[in-house]
Amino acid sequence: MSDQADFLAACRDLLGDAYVLTEDADTAPFLTDWRDRFTGKALAVLRPATVEQVAAILRACAQWQVPVVPQGGNTGLVLGSIPDAAGTAVVLSLARLNSIRALDPVNRTITVDAGCILQTIQEAASAAGCLFPLSLAAEGSCTIGGNLATNAGGTAVLRYGNTRELCLGLEVVTPQGEIWSGLRGLRKDNTGYDLRDLYIGAEGTLGIITGAVMKLYPQPKACITALAAMPSPAHALRLLSLMQDHCGASLTGFELMSQYCLQLVAEQFPQLPRPFAEAHGQYVLLELSSSQSEAHAVELLEASIGAALEDELIEDAVVASSVAQSEGLWQLREHIPLAQAQAGKNIKHDISLPISCIADFIAVTDAALESAFPGCQLVCFGHLGDGNLHYNVAPPPGMTDRDFLANQDAINRIVHDQVHGFGGSISAEHGIGALKKDDLARYKSPLELQLMRAVKQALDPQNIMNPGKIL
Ligand code: FAD
Ligand code: ZN
Repeated sequence: MSDQADFLAACRDLLGDAYVLTEDADTAPFLTDWRDRFTGKALAVLRPATVEQVAAILRACAQWQVPVVPQGGNTGLVLGSIPDAAGTAVVLSLARLNSIRALDPVNRTITVDAGCILQTIQEAASAAGCLFPLSLAAEGSCTIGGNLATNAGGTAVLRYGNTRELCLGLEVVTPQGEIWSGLRGLRKDNTGYDLRDLYIGAEGTLGIITGAVMKLYPQPKACITALAAMPSPAHALRLLSLMQDHCGASLTGFELMSQYCLQLVAEQFPQLPRPFAEAHGQYVLLELSSSQSEAHAVELLEASIGAALEDELIEDAVVASSVAQSEGLWQLREHIPLAQAQAGKNIKHDISLPISCIADFIAVTDAALESAFPGCQLVCFGHLGDGNLHYNVAPPPGMTDRDFLANQDAINRIVHDQVHGFGGSISAEHGIGALKKDDLARYKSPLELQLMRAVKQALDPQNIMNPGKIL
């Protein structure tokens, strides 16, 4: 038998034939990314059901030097969970590790398998009267392992932080096939280097996350949503300061959307609500949570909106008066990426900036793009409260996707040079994967890259963990 056949036979012994997929029809769903930009090849897709099986598979991969691409829900946006075209790697799907292991309402923690779907964790927390605050549009299919591996952000970062801030402990299988059990539910633990923080955001390049202890929070008594309209991003930033001053920690969402974003959603999803009769320059979706009562939340929101109208920061606002109306407003925000995907190709940027620089960044970068690519459409929205913009560029009317995508490098260069110049980051929440590797090399200092390579070399000297990603 060839080496590959020996390796696959060993995998079949460990997992059973049904969980070692090699037929094209079976492997296809695991090999193309969510945005349908790239299809890789794999020796096999492996579907272990236990941590011990993951460890045994990793020992086999180390023995036969087979590269491993971990995969959760495959909703990542930077080609991190897809193998390259060589066909020598295996995709290791964590989807069958999907149990809630424990929930401790007093410690306010939940211990979960890495393959648990995010929404399942939210629902388990809610059933116990708690809140698991991580929330993003892919929550019905992304996994907590993928959220941790990409340090996902989402819409509640302003109040609760990124996935990193929500994680207290991890269980990890090393590239050598050992199991590190760091499932500690401690809020304080200063006992040397923080290995947990190394694996979070490592995009599967250092080891496989198989379990995690995540923080839970009290469920707010009330949550209300409003949509405010204003002429410019500068007005939106002044509104952010005002809301933070008035509402403190009760402000749990602050999402910016440009007029063009809402126009795109209205064109692609005409069934969704249209809150304003007239068009405005920008919109902010606001969410306030109260630990006291609905009346308290409404009072806070109305007082803040009143002050914003008086200061002429906003031109108009609608406050959702029911859960259904509130969901309708959130749907406008969440349908922007879906509307873009339906409308055609676009070039995405997931960037962060010091909040104080955002209005200047948008003005300068919009102008630079318009001058280089007249008529290009800017789909700018995002988590303004976190300084994170999804600053996406769509082709001028009439230009084919193909002609437009030929300019991808030039467009990325214009946007990322501006981001770098303003002291920002070229990846705020989606990670680096295979897609932004060259950009990372361009904007990180040589010393930072050298330190990152030293960590990779120390933990994965054979370079079998998701090779070709990040570095
Ligand atoms: P995958 O896509 O399967 O994998 C992502 C990366 O993690 C890959 O590098 C993979 O190798 C690695 N990985 C996966 N599981 C493990 C594991 N158990 N151990 C080690 N490595 C692993 N992201 C945000 O941050 N904020 C958003 O608001 C947001 N909105 C989105 C909206 C939509 C509609 C979509 C499609 C995506 C969105 N994303 C967002 C991106 C994506 O959903 C997140 O990055 C998510 O965390 C990925 O989880 P996943 O389980 O799908 O991981
Ligand atoms: Zn986002």
